[in-house]
Amino acid sequence: MTLALGCIADDYTGASDLANTLTRAGLRTVQTIGVPADDLALPEVDAVVVSLKSRSIEAGLAVTRSRAAEKWLRGRGASHVLFKICSTFDSTDAGNIGPVMDALREDCGEAIVLVTPAFPETGRTVYQGNLFVGAVPLNESPLKDHPLNPMHDSNLVRVLARQSRTSVGLVDLATVTRGVDAVRLRLSDLAAKGIGAAVIDAVFDRDLETIGLVAGSHRLSVGASGIGLGLARALVSSGKVKSSATNAEAGAPVGGPAACLAGSCSQATLQQMANAERVMPVLHLDPTRIFTDKDEAQRALAWAKPRLADGPLLIASSATPEAVAAVQARYGRDAAGHAIEQTMADIADGLVQSGVRRLVVAGGETSGAVVDRLKIPGFLVGAEIAAGVPVLRAVGAKESAKESAMLLALKSGNFGGPEFFTDALRLMR
Ligand code: ADP
Repeated sequence: MTLALGCIADDYTGASDLANTLTRAGLRTVQTIGVPADDLALPEVDAVVVSLKSRSIEAGLAVTRSRAAEKWLRGRGASHVLFKICSTFDSTDAGNIGPVMDALREDCGEAIVLVTPAFPETGRTVYQGNLFVGAVPLNESPLKDHPLNPMHDSNLVRVLARQSRTSVGLVDLATVTRGVDAVRLRLSDLAAKGIGAAVIDAVFDRDLETIGLVAGSHRLSVGASGIGLGLARALVSSGKVKSSATNAEAGAPVGGPAACLAGSCSQATLQQMANAERVMPVLHLDPTRIFTDKDEAQRALAWAKPRLADGPLLIASSATPEAVAAVQARYGRDAAGHAIEQTMADIADGLVQSGVRRLVVAGGETSGAVVDRLKIPGFLVGAEIAAGVPVLRAVGAKESAKESAMLLALKSGNFGGPEFFTDALRLMR
């Protein structure tokens, strides 16, 4: 298999967003959790997005992990690698975008790297090198107060130059508007001057298409899901990838029992649980028992196992803001959150061992704990259940064994409509 596109994402949710964007654009896409093992069994795909957690770690570590991911992707034939960053250029003057870009550029021998976090449909635009978040420049947006990476400069040419060993140039909107040849000419002018990276303006969706066409003939680019979309469209329009409208393989039925887990306490999830209660049995965990008796997972599994054959069920730790506040006041916010997440992971593990093959999880952190516990190396991305929430098919772990095939839906608390759990199960057969 030769990958048409390799991607390295600096966080998990960004990776999911990119994988979903590529899938919607017609690319068969797998998202892996961390750098995959050399012998990971992959289905036939066009793109792989390697999810790292490298956005806010020490720069040297981010470089090492990103290099390992690049090596894996190039080893699978990816001639172009996109380093996926946050669309708000989330970073400090110490990195990690510049150092990772420098290292990957060195490894692939690229003369000049295209850089843009623009994604107009989500309100991220770049003009004269300045990043706008909605109507305001980055340094006037809420990102100026980000707890880890406060952004005080909206000029990305300057921001990137402070992080990078190479000089940084600009391809402005006027050039992008003139089209592919004008952009190529500008890039070769910059490269001839020894400039190794260029921030590219993009204000409209069509700008991403021009950028994608140019980027595709380079070895490396840096940006958010917007440039991913541009690259995907270029691959489809050039015929290098045959667009697959929805990923039929990802959604192929697996059969077997289904279960839902809810750890999110968001309003949306509480409403979705209330609606699920009308159509499936629901067990509400008792958070205090998680701390006192420590047998809450076993109790939940004893409740669930005899019911699995009768249809889907839901197990929830989710509670109202008042109940959550009471648990947090007693056990501490982080300790309570962690203990409950681990209990949900124990329950997920027990359910899968009892034959569950279709698992819906509500809550971002809760999903992370479940995926880690199940040691799932990656997912093939399928059709969207709700905006930003696709059906996922576990890949890797002895995928050829039919009985190990598994479908998941992982959603952040606020995502999905009021009937999310039944909507998800309808697409997960
Ligand atoms: P969301 O996507 O809505 O942010 P997360 O799963 O990321 O959901 O976060 C929810 C957090 O709340 C998790 O750490 C979870 O363990 C914790 N939690 C779940 N139920 C309760 C509860 N009843 N009391 C206190 N904390 C809870």
